[in-house]
Amino acid sequence: MEYSHRYAAYPTQTVAAELERHIDIHRQAYNYTRYEYEHVESDNIGSAYKHHYRLPGWKDEFPVFSEVNSKALQRTVTRFYQNLSNLSEQKQNGNNVGRLKWKSPHDFKSMTFSQSGFELKNTSGRHATLELSKIGDVRIRYHRDIPDEADIKEVTVKKETTDEWFVSLGLETDDEDLPEKPDVDSLDTSNSIGIDLGILNYIHTTDGLSVNWLDLDEEYERLRREQRKLSRKQEGSNNWEKQRVEVAKVKRRIRRKVLDFQQKLTTWLVREYDAVFVEDLDVKPMLEQSHNARNKQDAAWRQFITLLEYKAELYGVHVEQVEPRGTTKECASCGCESEKPLWVREHSCPSCGFECDRDANAALNVLQRGFESLGLGWPESTLVETALPVGTTAVPAKRVVETGSPTLNEAKAVA
Ligand SMILES: [Zn+2]
Repeated sequence: MEYSHRYAAYPTQTVAAELERHIDIHRQAYNYTRYEYEHVESDNIGSAYKHHYRLPGWKDEFPVFSEVNSKALQRTVTRFYQNLSNLSEQKQNGNNVGRLKWKSPHDFKSMTFSQSGFELKNTSGRHATLELSKIGDVRIRYHRDIPDEADIKEVTVKKETTDEWFVSLGLETDDEDLPEKPDVDSLDTSNSIGIDLGILNYIHTTDGLSVNWLDLDEEYERLRREQRKLSRKQEGSNNWEKQRVEVAKVKRRIRRKVLDFQQKLTTWLVREYDAVFVEDLDVKPMLEQSHNARNKQDAAWRQFITLLEYKAELYGVHVEQVEPRGTTKECASCGCESEKPLWVREHSCPSCGFECDRDANAALNVLQRGFESLGLGWPESTLVETALPVGTTAVPAKRVVETGSPTLNEAKAVA
């Protein structure tokens, strides 16, 4: 499986200048690939693989292309073709897309080393060193170890709009080195969990846990303030440029906080359970969420599920996305459907009389569908007794962020 780890990087001034110079050469290579693709007739054009054969000729003609790592140069040519194929995919999906654009220095902020040209060193402490061919050593904040069995396939160095540097390591772990998932037949409700992706709560689980939204009010207030300041400056001026960086920093801080929260929550889930079931967002009607600005901010549900799925592989846990339609309407006890406007917070079945929290009922349906999707039956009569927790425990997101788990410390019971 392939995944990536991202680290903050702290190049010295000299190395940062080299990085920028190299990125700019790659930008020119990208633009030149585009130029040749559009204007040059040759057998060696039309795919990244063929286009790579033109590189020796480039280097003869423009010695500057010899100054960067040659695998990385190939990777930049590949990047053009990848963008091209993304573009045609979007076209096929009916989106109105133009042609690939020429990249200005402002639009081209990264380069990628592929297979070679890099070495990660001194990984025992809080910082590590990344050696980049023809550039030099870059210190990175090594806050997450790379698993022993993982290979580093690629290294992408990027300068963000905040002017900060990051490196992203593309990792690959052989599937046979991954822990085995528990036998499906031995799963039971006590080590499996269904999750309702919430409107009022972030998640609501069948174990009676509701984890609240991350409180980002302060950050959003700050963002509005900085954006207002930006709008008062003259576009393109020095002050405008400085303020633009401030805005980008606040945005990044928000993204980072959300990611940190999601990292902790998903790690806790895959450590705690053998199977985790969530709704399939690709088909989930977003209707209920459209009016809620809070959700839009960082619903980032896709990111949450992506993290969950990749950790499931690393920890050997089943993660299944289930059909989300009707999870709220359907009674988890008898399956009978009843309409339920958003403001109705309780599930009270007109058919069988089963009562519980609206989101708890939805989570139970997710759990049930998860079992079905793994091909397991469900003793329907015992569902409610065995799976339904006595009450719901509301947990502030802050606790997850601070302790890494929603279940540590005393929780406030609300039901
Ligand atoms: Zn019912």
